[in-house]
Parts: sequence; C-alpha cells; structure tokens
Amino acid sequence: MSTELSATADNCLFCKIAAGKIPSKKVYEDDDLYAFHDIAPWAPIHFLIVPKKHITSMAHLDEADGALMGKIMTLAPQLALEQGCEPYPSGGFRVVINTGAHGGQEVHHLHVHVMGGPRPWTKG
Ligand code: AMP
Ligand code: ZN
Repeated sequence: MSTELSATADNCLFCKIAAGKIPSKKVYEDDDLYAFHDIAPWAPIHFLIVPKKHITSMAHLDEADGALMGKIMTLAPQLALEQGCEPYPSGGFRVVINTGAHGGQEVHHLHVHVMGGPRPWTKG
C-alpha cells in the first residue's frame, strides 16, 4: 500500500491542519471538529469539515461515530450560511464525501466538502 493510502495520525495532512501544525484558513473549530477553506476551491464558497480524530475515510466509520457524523451534518448548513451561501431553496449548497480511489478521495482523512455560491462553478 502506498504512503498516501495508508495515512495515519502521525503522517496525515488533515490531522496536522486540524492540530494547527500546518496553516489553514479556519472556518470553525470545537473539541471534535475543524473546518477550513479548501486550498483549490471548485465553487465561490468551498470549505472542508474534518473530525479532529483521524478517521481514514467514510468507509472506516463504525456505529460509535454516528454522533460525530451527525454533528458534522448539522454543522454544515450553519457554516454554509455563515460563509455566504444563500438560503434554501434558491441558494443552497452541495455536500460531498469522496471515499476511496473510485470515489476520488485524495486525502486519506475523512472530510466533508461543503460548496456553494452562484454558478457556474469551476467543477461540479
Ligand atoms: P478529496 O479529493 O475529497 O480527497 O479532496 C481533498 C481536498 O483537499 C481537495 O479539494 C484539495 O484542494 C484540498 N486540500 C489539499 N491540501 C489542502 C490544504 N493544505 N489546505 C486546504 N485544502 C487542501
Ligand atoms: Zn488524519
């Protein structure tokens, strides 16, 4: 398995970002979660929400992670509005969780993309 596909908490870009060891443009932080602007946005608004604990991908979730994922999913619409997404239904936003090679996952720490703003977008 390549290094990229076997990221651990010690060797993980998003663990380092969530811990403040690598700079990012912070959107939100609490004890469990960190959110920051995507470095290569596909849309006028594009940020990522990550758990602070290392979870490799959505495929690695177990039942005990349900509350954490629920927290991410309820935080996403709040942060989307705060970041300037227009309200539903004329505005709205897109949520994407790329998982594994076929899912287009490049960074192997679970992250939720939240994208919004007027179209056209660069991608998607
Ligand atoms: P994915 O393809 O779902 O794994 O997406 C990884 C995302 O992380 C891409 O949209 C990248 O632009 C973004 N990304 C990579 N490195 C950084 C970084 N240092 N700061 C912010 N976003 C990043
Ligand atoms: Zn990590």
